[in-house]
Amino acid sequence: MPPDLPSYEQAFRIVAEYAAGLSQRLKPQIESIELGSAAGRILASTLRADDDQPPFPRSTRDGYACRAADASAHIALPIVGSTHAGQPPAGPLSENSAWEIMTGAPIPAGADCVVMLEHVDKSGNTIRLAASRTMAPGDNIVAKGAQSHRGDRLLTPGVLIDPAQIALAASCGYSMVEVFRRPRVAILTTGDELVPIDATPEPGKIRNSNASMLAALVAQFGADPLVLPTAADTAEALDAALAQAQRSDMLLISGGVSAGKYDLVEPALARLGAQFHFTGVKIQPGKPLVFGEMKRAGFSPYTNRSQTEGTSAPEEDSIPLFGLPGNPISSAATFLLFAAPVLAALAGSRDIYPRFVLAQLARDTDRKARPGLTRFLPALCTFNPSVNALPQVASVPWHGSGDLTAFAQSNCFLVIPEDAAHLEAGSTVRILLH
Ligand code: AMP
Ligand code: MG
Repeated sequence: MPPDLPSYEQAFRIVAEYAAGLSQRLKPQIESIELGSAAGRILASTLRADDDQPPFPRSTRDGYACRAADASAHIALPIVGSTHAGQPPAGPLSENSAWEIMTGAPIPAGADCVVMLEHVDKSGNTIRLAASRTMAPGDNIVAKGAQSHRGDRLLTPGVLIDPAQIALAASCGYSMVEVFRRPRVAILTTGDELVPIDATPEPGKIRNSNASMLAALVAQFGADPLVLPTAADTAEALDAALAQAQRSDMLLISGGVSAGKYDLVEPALARLGAQFHFTGVKIQPGKPLVFGEMKRAGFSPYTNRSQTEGTSAPEEDSIPLFGLPGNPISSAATFLLFAAPVLAALAGSRDIYPRFVLAQLARDTDRKARPGLTRFLPALCTFNPSVNALPQVASVPWHGSGDLTAFAQSNCFLVIPEDAAHLEAGSTVRILLH
């Protein structure tokens, strides 16, 4: 291994800096879509509160609205009215009286707390606070505007729209939301051995599984995949395919980046004037990974943030590219580790880092001595019925990074740090879910 290859951390820093630069420099186009189809999209404009939230002081309990001082005196309070959710605010409530109230209903003027139904002794038409309890003003009430005030910025551009953000937008009356246009990611698979998935491979051929897998990964990360025709392992085929790929927002090439005689991707990229940020990383699988950028052909759908809104990006606009090693597990791992963060930045997201999480190792995992390599082993993470235990993870036995059978039994990559020789069962480890 050439000594000058970056470590995982070094390579990731290069990718993260590039992604941060993209976010600073370029703004994606904006489109307006219905809230109902906004899950998974990136918010493009500030979402503001259309009113105070809650718009009226609201009871959080079924019970009785009253003055805290009256309740805490433990005297019998006559029930003088009733409000359920959906009714207009009632009152005013006179001193030494109580008002029946339901969860979500507006508090009558004059009341400053809600005593829970379960905490009173009811007798005829009066209630009395249980002797063991006292009340304070504000108890079981959410004040008008406690959550936010009319005009407040509730969500800012770059936020991923998930069910929680959809609920907030809905509560503020947004039936449409502005989101960033999805990046278009060209997927170029290379290799003389590849046949389409509906073909029966002749001896020596295999089906092109990476095109389908990468398209699914790209879609999973909020972008539109554009699968190009597979390129043969010839300079001419690659030149033609790369010319087509220049019209997308990002390029994923699969295969042809190792050191073999038919690994012709890097020279083809170089002929096009591509710039390389790294060509190889000390990881396993995925060591031959190439990260670079090349000139975009045609109109850029991004706005340069330093220019006036509405002008397109400068002509030296480039698109990021990844040359992923062709072995399917290598392709998937390098996509998740390095390409996905760049894709997230291109999509306008502020949340770009891989989400490594902790799990507990279920069995000892030996690693062969591979000094300096960070490894990402296909593994199965199982969640447990208790909230007190970490998920358990075990690596899946595999026959190398082409073993799709093993890969399909996995749901994560187990990280073996470069300095770890042996990981003991029970130890806490990092995983990347996929
Ligand atoms: P390469 O990176 O081109 O040297 O390919 C490494 C290994 O991955 C070889 O065994 C290839 O046959 C396999 N491979 C390359 N591209 C694909 C693909 N699109 N789908 C499935 N396997 C592939
Ligand atoms: Mg190949």
